[in-house]
Amino acid sequence: MPTAVTGPEIDRLIQLLARLPGLGPRSARRAALHLIKKREALMAPLASALQVAIDRILVCETCGNIDTRSPCTVCTDVRRDPSIIVVVADVADLWALERAGATNGFYHVLGATLSPLDGVGPQDLTIDALVSRAHDSRVTEIVLALNATVDGQTTAHYITDLLGDANVKVTRLAHGVPVGGELDYLDEGTLSAAMRQRTLF
Ligand code: ZN
Repeated sequence: MPTAVTGPEIDRLIQLLARLPGLGPRSARRAALHLIKKREALMAPLASALQVAIDRILVCETCGNIDTRSPCTVCTDVRRDPSIIVVVADVADLWALERAGATNGFYHVLGATLSPLDGVGPQDLTIDALVSRAHDSRVTEIVLALNATVDGQTTAHYITDLLGDANVKVTRLAHGVPVGGELDYLDEGTLSAAMRQRTLF
């Protein structure tokens, strides 16, 4: 039986780190050791950032983004175009689109996608709030930026049906050849979707 090399406090730190996505026990041990070595430069600032997050982080009452205020920084940005609402499943998708500078519209975070097999139904998503936002007279386009998976597309169809009586254009992201992608490496589904959705050159 291996003997313990650290006290329970450090063990606990490692166990907690190991619960983070993408970290197993081995990388959690490395992360813990790194934090301990950089106690002043990294561990203390991290601990205080975590404390601020515990105390101040909110879910935006308008769009579902995570921020320290509600309405969030995105929703209160007056330079944004109020005619566009981009619908995403998760906050991570919102942040990804923002990193890419992909749109200057507003967002709506659903919280998940419909997934009958996992018991996720419309009542688990913020669809009612989306429908009511879509009826705002300034809104002219709802962009469905959802995953190109069965669940993502089921959700897109469901929302499109519900938006039938709102005066908005419903669009979705293109499916196709990734930027820098080579045709020979694409899977058949992506390649045939790209061919079906070809655009005028
Ligand atoms: Zn917001």
